[in-house]
Amino acid sequence: MKKLSSNEIRQMWIDFFQSKEHHFLAPVSLIPVEDPSLLWINSGVATLKPYFDGRKTPPSPRLTNSQKSIRTNDIENVGVTARHQTMFEMLGNFSIGDYFKKEAIEFGWELLTSEKWFAMDPEKLYITVFNEDEEAYKIWTEIIGIKPDHIFKGGRDTNFWDVGQGPCGPNTEIFYDRGIEWDPQNLGTKLLAEDMENDRYIEIWNIVFSQFNNDGHNNYTELPRKNIDTGAGLERVASLCQNTPTNFETDIFWPTIQAIEKMVGGNFQYSMENYPNPNPKQTRINTAFKVIADHIRAVTFAIADGVFPGNKDRGYIIRRLIRRSSIYGRELGINHTFLYQLVDQVIASMGQFYPYLATKKAIIVETIKNEETKFLQTLSKGFDLLEEMIKKEGKVSAENAMLLFESFGFPIEQSMEIARNNNVEVDLQGFEALLNQAKEKARSGRKELKAWDNQNELFTKMHVDSEFTGWQEMTHKDSKIVFMFIDDQQVDEITDTTGYIILDKTPFYAEKGGQAADHGTIQGLKGMGVVDDVQQGPLGQNIHRVNVEGTLSMHDLVEANVDQEKRIYTMKNHSGTHMIHAALREVLGDLVMQSGSYNDEFGLRMDFTFNRNITPEELITTQNLVLKKIKAAIKREVHFVSMQEAVDKYHALAFFTEKYDEIVRVVQFGDFSSELCGGTHVENTQVIEDFVITGIESKGSGVFRIKCLTSFKTVAQYYEQQWSEQLENARGLMNKYHQLKGSETAAEIEAMFELIENFKMDRQQIQEFKNMVWEFQQKVYFFEKQVALKNSNLKLAAYQNLEPSINENGIQQIKVYANDLNMQELKMLADQLRNQFAEVIIILMSESEQGNFIIVAVSETLQDKYPAIDLFKNMPGIKTQGGGNKHLAQGKFNK
Ligand code: ATP
Ligand code: MG
Repeated sequence: MKKLSSNEIRQMWIDFFQSKEHHFLAPVSLIPVEDPSLLWINSGVATLKPYFDGRKTPPSPRLTNSQKSIRTNDIENVGVTARHQTMFEMLGNFSIGDYFKKEAIEFGWELLTSEKWFAMDPEKLYITVFNEDEEAYKIWTEIIGIKPDHIFKGGRDTNFWDVGQGPCGPNTEIFYDRGIEWDPQNLGTKLLAEDMENDRYIEIWNIVFSQFNNDGHNNYTELPRKNIDTGAGLERVASLCQNTPTNFETDIFWPTIQAIEKMVGGNFQYSMENYPNPNPKQTRINTAFKVIADHIRAVTFAIADGVFPGNKDRGYIIRRLIRRSSIYGRELGINHTFLYQLVDQVIASMGQFYPYLATKKAIIVETIKNEETKFLQTLSKGFDLLEEMIKKEGKVSAENAMLLFESFGFPIEQSMEIARNNNVEVDLQGFEALLNQAKEKARSGRKELKAWDNQNELFTKMHVDSEFTGWQEMTHKDSKIVFMFIDDQQVDEITDTTGYIILDKTPFYAEKGGQAADHGTIQGLKGMGVVDDVQQGPLGQNIHRVNVEGTLSMHDLVEANVDQEKRIYTMKNHSGTHMIHAALREVLGDLVMQSGSYNDEFGLRMDFTFNRNITPEELITTQNLVLKKIKAAIKREVHFVSMQEAVDKYHALAFFTEKYDEIVRVVQFGDFSSELCGGTHVENTQVIEDFVITGIESKGSGVFRIKCLTSFKTVAQYYEQQWSEQLENARGLMNKYHQLKGSETAAEIEAMFELIENFKMDRQQIQEFKNMVWEFQQKVYFFEKQVALKNSNLKLAAYQNLEPSINENGIQQIKVYANDLNMQELKMLADQLRNQFAEVIIILMSESEQGNFIIVAVSETLQDKYPAIDLFKNMPGIKTQGGGNKHLAQGKFNK
């Protein structure tokens, strides 16, 4: 086997598949695009779903990539097995309806064993196939020449890939035998045949034959178009090529481990001697090094892709990884923030293939450092909590171990050690059961979402071209109908019903890049279709949904008319989105990264990541900047150029969450804004007319959603509505004041209302106006309270001369009906009376339309003998409902 660096392995993989006519796809973001079924990109194929199910046509039917992937269900394996990372790179080759089993197996074998490529010893390679897949078994044994003792048949659990819905099929795995020293019990291929967890046979490559469609109820039918999907872990191949005990001593992680050793300053050292004969103490130390090296790499990549620590979803995973690293750092004697200092090393190790990491260094470092600092504060609370638990309960229950694990990131070993030092037990079994439950829940929670779309046969037939003319025009006079379908059936005509149409030329914009679809009409000689949606087909054709009256037929010449008003307002909003994006970056800095947007004729919203909250002043500055740029009438320019030119020459913002074709379209507004964009835009910024930010909300994990409006009409309406809402509110309050006032008046309120009524509407002063109405509201509320208090005092005065009588126990007691008092007033009266007499029981009742209320109050010296709550509950002749204590009880009663 050749000794190769990880960069050489990756390059060799790509070179090999390029030599077999595969198109190389650059890695994409760890954040899935338009795929709610996935939290993270977890495999190479996860980025290619639209190609696999036929929604999009790939740039080539043969593809290869090296895709960063995160598998959260492997986090607990990290540092424990030799072969798992949280984030790893999956090398892949894919066939979309092109080659199938034979070539896929042959390619795999050639790359691994040929002298020209990896040159692995064929004797060391072992194969598994699905037990019903005779075809694959035959290819391996008869064509490749694998001996029967090197190939094993597996069941559905190991050798069939199925997510419960959509494409699925058998797979074949390739393992590398690292030899008997990794097999202490000398079990040999039994480990493989029985799928036992082991460090001897390392799975390097999995080839999935995507052959069937699962309808969601485990009914399997052959796919119209069969695909190949493969994945091999770069880190595992590196570990074999570099002959290291685990993935962690490869050039990918070793420099980071060394950097940690340096920090620890000789107190702890990683030991390569610990394999394969482990010493438990050293294993723990090694694990700490490995976990930290793994987590810092995953965290660095995730933050670079715009994920920030938070309380849910991706943000929470990042937070957990940082916390776990911090805890493992303590195992190595590090009690301060340190993780952020390793970012440099990660960038040095990974930067060659991922040059963008270096450009994001500042934000990565800052984010990790903040999070570590915050955690160290929580952590000391966690330790206190654990000690308290131990003291109070004399053990650590499963629930508490889970709490420490989940909320504070305590590994169970840490809790156990502290418990051991205190001579108490941890309910380990219970903890493990809870952990499994939590994992199961996470798993099933995701499964419910539709993971894959069914492959659509219609889409695979839709090979017609369609040109988009809508950048220049909104009407096209002689478009030809080139494809039609209703539901999933291709048709030749659509009569008086809803169907779908593709035109050879169309001015209709299909929904994409955050811009809403155009609406309008398609007019033929024998019928007319109202277009209410346009979506992109597999070749990027615009597919119009039409409600047809009369008949539209294949090959008809039609006139396509876009609803101009809707389009024009949508354009203002789309250009407005570019404006707010550029302005936020100017005001807040380059950390602002757009993560999604939507604009239609009504308004726009944009999601973006940022690492802290945004102040109202910053929002105003941003809004003013946009307004200034609108006034400046900056001309729009459009360039069709290579990706490289777009970035170098036009400094276009390109995000790694999207794949771009070779030639890209740059939409530029002077030197203010430059973005890759296929949307329709105003000719110059003045056409946007007007702009207002109407709100911003945090969606957690450092993601914000900002909402804005453009155009004179819409913005004026917005301000008018805001203004009239305030005015309505003030008028309502004024009515209340008039009802309350009686003889009592408040000149201040009247004067202020006068000011409000006469305030001249002016958008610059909207905030001032809002403040004023708020203040007015406070004044009216205060007035209301005062009037109420005064009324109560008047009513209470009537009860001032009550005298106690002596009850059957010889105690002074006042028992009266005060039907004009409400509950609050009853309470005031009870307090007054109790203060008036040294030793008394007070029972006040009120019967009115509002209900029957009762309150019992008892003087301090009587409370133990005659607790108020007991008297309340046992009131003769009535049934009470309520609560209280020995001092006071209150509630309702029925007779
Ligand atoms: P394993 O059983 O070893 O966890 P898997 O069956 O989960 O592997 P696949 O889903 O088939 O793996 O992924 C394809 C390849 O990706 C594997 O053959 C392996 O080389 C690599 N791989 C999978 N998970 C990880 C991980 N957590 N860290 C590093 N490499 C991985
Ligand atoms: Mg796995």
